[in-house]
Amino acid sequence: MSEYILETKGLTRRFGGLVAVDNVDMCMKSGELVGLIGPNGAGKSTFFNCLTGFYPPSEGEVRFMGSPITGLKPYQVAKLGIGRTFQNLRIMPNMTVFDNVSVGSIGSVGHSLRRAVWPFRCRADEEISQRTWDILKRVGLDSLAGELAANLSYGKRKYLEIARALATNPKLLILDEPAAGLNEQETAELADFIGEMNADGIPILLVEHDMGLVMGICHRVMVLALGRKIADDTPKAVQKNPEVLEAYLGGEECQY
Ligand code: ADP
Ligand code: MG
Repeated sequence: MSEYILETKGLTRRFGGLVAVDNVDMCMKSGELVGLIGPNGAGKSTFFNCLTGFYPPSEGEVRFMGSPITGLKPYQVAKLGIGRTFQNLRIMPNMTVFDNVSVGSIGSVGHSLRRAVWPFRCRADEEISQRTWDILKRVGLDSLAGELAANLSYGKRKYLEIARALATNPKLLILDEPAAGLNEQETAELADFIGEMNADGIPILLVEHDMGLVMGICHRVMVLALGRKIADDTPKAVQKNPEVLEAYLGGEECQY
């Protein structure tokens, strides 16, 4: 068994002539909370989509828990245990908060076709229901379980999206810009929550535009700029890295 939960070697993704992710090597150990940051257009979401099967890489390899997962489809990657959120929320607005989360649980409690016959279905349904309540409590949405997702505030929808990812019982959680659109206080609360999930034993790769969020909670921070990895270090060292400062200050949208 590899000592790494997640590893990429030479990961590259091109769109026509554009190299969105350029020969990126990374690795992550199982207890870690790792930040992946970079200015807009750095290739973060593309990297993320290559890890989770949404884009096949043009070159390179992705390994999860020691096995290659390069080229697998998103549902296969999810089934192996990589949970994800999307930069643009993908919750189902016309379903209740409860149903949004319970849908995610279905695959994680062995609810196979074979089991979908009475009386086993009842047992599986109960298990899903219990799991859903546990997760809703964990993210602080249990009192809103019966609300339509569309009626939630933007900040609460972010937690719903995380709850949906947790429902799949992930061995690794990858979050794409979870703080986008949140105010300072909401961002600080979300940072605490992400830190708690990690302390509870879930390895997390946190993809963020906002340096502030990752610096307080991540053990290690990798920085992408124009598709290339330009730093991989402790938060403190990354904050002082001249190439990183240049990438951020030189960008159109300076957050730091
Ligand atoms: P980030 O998430 O760091 O802001 P992205 O991964 O979204 O960056 O984008 C990296 C580069 O790849 C950008 O130049 C973007 O325009 C380009 N890109 C991303 N997705 C696509 C796509 N589906 N087709 C063409 N170009 C894309
Ligand atoms: Mg992005």
